[in-house]
Amino acid sequence: MGVVVQKFGGTSVADPERIREVADHVARTVKRGDQAVVVVSAMGKETDELLHLASQVSKTRPGREMDMLITAGERKATALLCMALHDLGVPADSFTGSQAGFLTDTNHMNAKILEVRADRIRAAVDAGRVPVVGGAQGVSTANDVTFLGRGGSDTTAVALAEALGGVCELYTDVPGVFTTDPRVVPVAQRMTRISFDEMLEMCAAGCPKPAMRAVEFARTHGVRLHVRSAFTWELGTWITEEESEMEDAIVSGIVGDDSEAKITITQVPDRPGVSARLFRAMASADVNVDMIVQNVSEQGFTDISFTLPADQLDNVRPICEQVAVEIGADQVLADPSIAKVSLVGAGMKTNPGVAATVFETLAANDINIEMISTSAIRISVVVAGDQCDRAVTVLHSAFGLDAA
Ligand code: ADP
Ligand code: ASP
Ligand code: MG
Repeated sequence: MGVVVQKFGGTSVADPERIREVADHVARTVKRGDQAVVVVSAMGKETDELLHLASQVSKTRPGREMDMLITAGERKATALLCMALHDLGVPADSFTGSQAGFLTDTNHMNAKILEVRADRIRAAVDAGRVPVVGGAQGVSTANDVTFLGRGGSDTTAVALAEALGGVCELYTDVPGVFTTDPRVVPVAQRMTRISFDEMLEMCAAGCPKPAMRAVEFARTHGVRLHVRSAFTWELGTWITEEESEMEDAIVSGIVGDDSEAKITITQVPDRPGVSARLFRAMASADVNVDMIVQNVSEQGFTDISFTLPADQLDNVRPICEQVAVEIGADQVLADPSIAKVSLVGAGMKTNPGVAATVFETLAANDINIEMISTSAIRISVVVAGDQCDRAVTVLHSAFGLDAA
């Protein structure tokens, strides 16, 4: 008998029937003798709808009020799931993040967990009850309701598993982590297991599941993660520490991400301090710069390109234009429709030639590469946005990842 934290994503609790199915699964977990603790996301697309609603009502959207609004989605789902559990004869209690003991900083819309005081949850479990906790929320050191950010419910679940000494099951709408998004490449295969290092590289490359912060938390605290389906209930993918007896795959997974844009500053004078000036301005504007490429300088000038989240492009462009004037560069070019395609695999460390195969495969399919970056276990290329799915598909096949 052990504690199992079961987290259900939005699609898993999207309507009344789904909520009853989730309740049924939790009831069976309890019957098996495990101590279930449940974390829920808001139903379906409710978080998106609440964000949209706010944008229709207000231009300023103060963070404190946004967090009060968004966390209402999860709160609703906890109460409904508890009602369904009661109907099945399973005693269950709903908890907001605050009631569950999630103490956070005061950074609204993206609050960080400072501490989990899980006494109430532990007491509920000890009393034979099932706590159902609202995901992605807490209470700040200033006593206000906070939202942990998009995908924050995964982090809530991992943090609870750590506090209670249990395993963490993340239930979603696909049966695990796949070699690439199974909605884009239907012949993608489910992985039985993946190491934390590889999973984190896939998250950083743009894989939405599980949320990166949750994987980081799990690795730091040694929480075992199991990603699985709330529709088929079959066993999914275990995310664990590397098991050295296993042979590392050269490429384990491929991630396509079309959420970034590219900025190029041309004819930048090649002298010390210029990049520092540009990227300090980006940091001050809270821009999450991803890939950076600077060309070899010709006659004292060089081009600098970088990628950033596409939704920050409109804000960032004028800042770059001002910096360009200050440093004596020529133009600021923006490309809103690019895609980053990344291949991740621990076996890359010991297998030369992966990059060559990537480039040959893309060339053979007439896909132009605009930027390249690598880490020890990842190769990323930037291609035109409308080539993203095709690039992922041909690379998936070239590296032998297609299901037979
Ligand atoms: P949830 O709302 O359950 O937390 P998300 O909707 O955030 O889950 O993420 C699940 C989605 O992630 C799946 O529907 C799938 O299309 C997508 N996805 C993208 N890449 C992968 C991958 N490599 N493995 C599994 N799912 C992936
Ligand atoms: N509902 C929130 C979101 O969609 C939090 C979560 O589900 O993790 O981002
Ligand atoms: Mg989600």
